[in-house]
Amino acid sequence: MSGSIELVQTTKVYDQVSVVDAINVKVEKGSYCCLLGPSGCGKSTTLRMIAGHEAVTEGDILLNDRNVTRLTPRQRGTAMMFQDYALFPHMNCLDNVSYGLKVSGVSKLVRYEQANEMLSLVNMAEHANKFPGQLSGGQQQRIALARALICKPDVVLLDEPLSALDPFLRIQMRKELKQLQQKLGLTFIHVTHSQEEAFALADQAIVMSRGKIEQVGSPRAIFESPNTPFVANFIGGHNVLKASGSLEFLSNRVVNPDSDDALLEANLSFSVRADHITTQPRSDKDIVVKADVISTEFQAQFYLLECVLEDGQSITCYQPEESFDVHLISSGKSLYLYWPQERINTFRC
Ligand code: ADP
Ligand code: MG
Repeated sequence: MSGSIELVQTTKVYDQVSVVDAINVKVEKGSYCCLLGPSGCGKSTTLRMIAGHEAVTEGDILLNDRNVTRLTPRQRGTAMMFQDYALFPHMNCLDNVSYGLKVSGVSKLVRYEQANEMLSLVNMAEHANKFPGQLSGGQQQRIALARALICKPDVVLLDEPLSALDPFLRIQMRKELKQLQQKLGLTFIHVTHSQEEAFALADQAIVMSRGKIEQVGSPRAIFESPNTPFVANFIGGHNVLKASGSLEFLSNRVVNPDSDDALLEANLSFSVRADHITTQPRSDKDIVVKADVISTEFQAQFYLLECVLEDGQSITCYQPEESFDVHLISSGKSLYLYWPQERINTFRC
């Protein structure tokens, strides 16, 4: 069991607009994959095409190297869990969970036995006779998950599964999702607009913007070296800066191995992580820039420092709480900011 998914030039056109635009990506079997991007970038459309709930305009979808593009959802071996759980309000949990087997013609005895197994798997065995309206948000989510799992899918597709939960429950349920995925060894594809959620869960994250894939990789690799200014801005914790104006001196030092020089000189930009910038030099090779403090904010483990460079570019840094001197650094003051040259991330695209 457990399936790999491959999208090959997969495209969805609505009203002459490509909302998913010839994307290519492979999801390894047994991995937890998060599809991450801002609202409207094409995440749900991509997921629905994988599920077979939405026709593909062009391109293909492969499941375990088998072309499933023209198959119905039930022929594919995928199961989808919807954002609002879509439980049947007039059915108890046992009937909700066993529903998929009922429509496949499985006898009552067998489907109830399997539904009870699934309810135990999601720790809901004692709620088998309750109706969805009698359950909390987290419990409803577990029932929806059990219902998706009962058909023994190779791939589980989850569209913003945690968005209906309060922040506390969201963190608890995301741990449960990951544990269940690991226990069952299934491939999960989880759509979210939250980079925090994607980073916490994903083996592989796929960052999308405007129907295209911006970057694919482990959360750590993406955070370490975002490919594009969009990714750096979207995942947060990074400054995207132009090597011009007060950073002009950087333009011949920031080297982008994959671009040609003419392009570099025209519009050279780079990113540097907010936690890699300090107010004290660590080495005489550090890059140093003058800045004015706009605001400081206490954020528990660190202070968030908003500054502006002499050329008007904004720059944000995180300063560890234990070394932050509120008397030396406050809004209106000028200071120098430092970061090691090797911490500069140049964009590959
Ligand atoms: P996301 O899940 O990333 O928020 P969606 O995949 O839902 O984005 O939508 C991507 C784009 O496709 C949006 O601009 C949306 O308005 C459009 N769209 C989605 N579904 C339809 C549809 N059935 N008809 C026309 N446009 C649609
Ligand atoms: Mg969506």
